[in-house]
Amino acid sequence: MEENEKNEKALLIDKQYTCPVCDKQFHSKVVKANSAKFVDTMADLRPIHSNINITKYDAICCPNCGFAALTKNFTNTTATQRKLIREKISSNYKSHPETVCDFYTTEMAISRMKMVLFCTITKGGKDSEIGNVCLKISWLYQDLADELPEEASDTASKKELYLKEAENAAMNANDRLTSARMHEGFPIAGMNETTLDYLLAYYAFRKGEYQTAMQLLSGVVTSRSVSPRLKDKSLELKEQITKLREQESQES
Ligand SMILES: [Zn+2]
Repeated sequence: MEENEKNEKALLIDKQYTCPVCDKQFHSKVVKANSAKFVDTMADLRPIHSNINITKYDAICCPNCGFAALTKNFTNTTATQRKLIREKISSNYKSHPETVCDFYTTEMAISRMKMVLFCTITKGGKDSEIGNVCLKISWLYQDLADELPEEASDTASKKELYLKEAENAAMNANDRLTSARMHEGFPIAGMNETTLDYLLAYYAFRKGEYQTAMQLLSGVVTSRSVSPRLKDKSLELKEQITKLREQESQES
């Protein structure tokens, strides 16, 4: 095992869960409390830690019936939702023994998170919950792109593919979270109002909808409840958009 893989293994524990759908017990790897060292968040709020990628361990998947959920939503299913999972997922699911491994690779984490997405949509989960899962899939594809070896001949083509997947997931997150913003109360996907508005502004910027982005950002920076860190990020994005708009007006 490589050094960083050994370090990652040391930060994990195998936690036992009882599946709310099939009642069987299984294990899932979780990051030990307070062990991840936070570094920064990227422009799309993707968290960066120096010693581990915590998003990889946020999907809990039952190997017996196929039920999967984000950690925070695992025990929150209703009887109707469990019935839907049994009928539409478990009945076709091939149960398998627990995967024995030291840590989850990013590829494994993506397929686990996609199972969470499938289950969340199937059970009729709220837009905020579906949007949250899409956001995490988008982050994981960017992590996968970041892990590519610089020298390999197929790195450029793989990177393009992964970043395209990340963008697709991000736009799905944008649609779901925009809808949640209109119909649900905060917190939405673990975010307060200023944080979500910042993220939606960033997505609007990615889509070239500069006016929408600027409106959202104005709300964020003038909010009394905005954190200094988020305010800085918002001001940075505003400046970037202002420059782009100036360039565009000069070109036309
Ligand atoms: Zn199960």
